[in-house]
Amino acid sequence: MPHIHTTISAAQPLMWLNPSRVDNAPPSTQAGNESISQVDMHAAQDRFRRFAPLLASLFPELAATKGIIESALLPIPAMQEALGLPVSSGKLWVKADHSLPVAGSIKARGGFHEVLELAERLALEQGLINTDSDYTALAQPAARALFGQYQVAVGSTGNLGMSIGVLAAGLGFKAVVHMSADAKAWKKDRLRQRGVQVVEHAGDYEQAVASGRQAAALDAKCHFVDDERSLSLFLGYSAAALELQRQLAAHKVAVDAAHPLLVYLPCGVGGAPSGIAWGLQQVFGAHVHCFFAEPVQSPCFLVQMLAELGTHPSVYDYGLTNQTEADGLAVPRASLLAAQIMQALLSGVFTVQDGTMFEHLAMIFKTEGLRIEPSAAAGFSGPAFLQGHQLVHANTTHVVWTTGGLLVPEAQFQGFLAKARDPKTL
Ligand SMILES: *Cc1c(COP(=O)(O)O)cnc(C)c1O
Repeated sequence: MPHIHTTISAAQPLMWLNPSRVDNAPPSTQAGNESISQVDMHAAQDRFRRFAPLLASLFPELAATKGIIESALLPIPAMQEALGLPVSSGKLWVKADHSLPVAGSIKARGGFHEVLELAERLALEQGLINTDSDYTALAQPAARALFGQYQVAVGSTGNLGMSIGVLAAGLGFKAVVHMSADAKAWKKDRLRQRGVQVVEHAGDYEQAVASGRQAAALDAKCHFVDDERSLSLFLGYSAAALELQRQLAAHKVAVDAAHPLLVYLPCGVGGAPSGIAWGLQQVFGAHVHCFFAEPVQSPCFLVQMLAELGTHPSVYDYGLTNQTEADGLAVPRASLLAAQIMQALLSGVFTVQDGTMFEHLAMIFKTEGLRIEPSAAAGFSGPAFLQGHQLVHANTTHVVWTTGGLLVPEAQFQGFLAKARDPKTL
């Protein structure tokens, strides 16, 4: 067997199992300089609920759910068959965050949470609301005038910018999104249409974040959403665990020692999948097993999990390019906050070639009619890596998290299908 570092450098797909995982994690977790627990996850969920009526009034697409931003949990038997995953290996589901409204991706969870937390803090400080108020008051001129004095900035490969930009502008903030060179043109166009200022950078995601952070530091009325360091983003993502818990219960799916839950999460900087994995661990303890999926050219989280304590390597150190069509995952260096929290919780990381993501994107469209973007297809390779593992049997529940796709324009989506038909164009 070649050494894992050799396989990473050769950009070959692999599954790494975390030898440091512990089954019984303590109830509170060290996150940077703070300690977080279930209480914080519930607080994030409560914040989403307080804001739901306001969001329903600001965004017509949220009227049907009364402002609640949730995605379905879907059984996908035809996809399971197409993947060649026998029923003796358990049952395959999709957690359909690709259909999250307004933002069109998993970033709705973390990104919206941080903007709402900021808006709430400012409005409480100014006495415009108290936490028992009807928050639709925040659509009134007094609140919009307050928010208009502040700028919300973020660095992004695309989807986080979409989430933060659209919500911040919708509330009346000045919104600025620093985009990396690999960000898709249609995402930039869409943001500009919504009144968001887009600043384009020649470099990669990490440089876009650094530029945004630097610009914001000079301005006391600028709030920078820091994808590499933010606990508010992390806790917003974690609330998804409570949603999945309710949905599994509604489908009468047990999660216990005899019925393990395996979750496959596409990973960029690591904030979204780690927030969710941490939340799931709070809810299901030892019986949930989370695996992160990364492009073979951008396995930054894997590289960080393998790194010596106190070091922060990038995928370039492995001779990789960070070039991938999975733009939501094109990140060269992981979030240290996320990596610290995952050290003892994560079950494993696997890597995926772009061609495989396109193949699975086309497969789930054909078998289940779901329209996802390439990043969101990364998780479908997970179950095959685990065939024969003791956790995989007829009573295993596999949940693949599909993380984006709703807003992809038709022409772009047809381009994805064309690439799947002819991988030489990759
Ligand atoms: C951002 C993103 C992810 C991963 O989230 P990170 O917090 O960057 O790890 C996964 N899928 C899509 C579609 C994304 O936009």
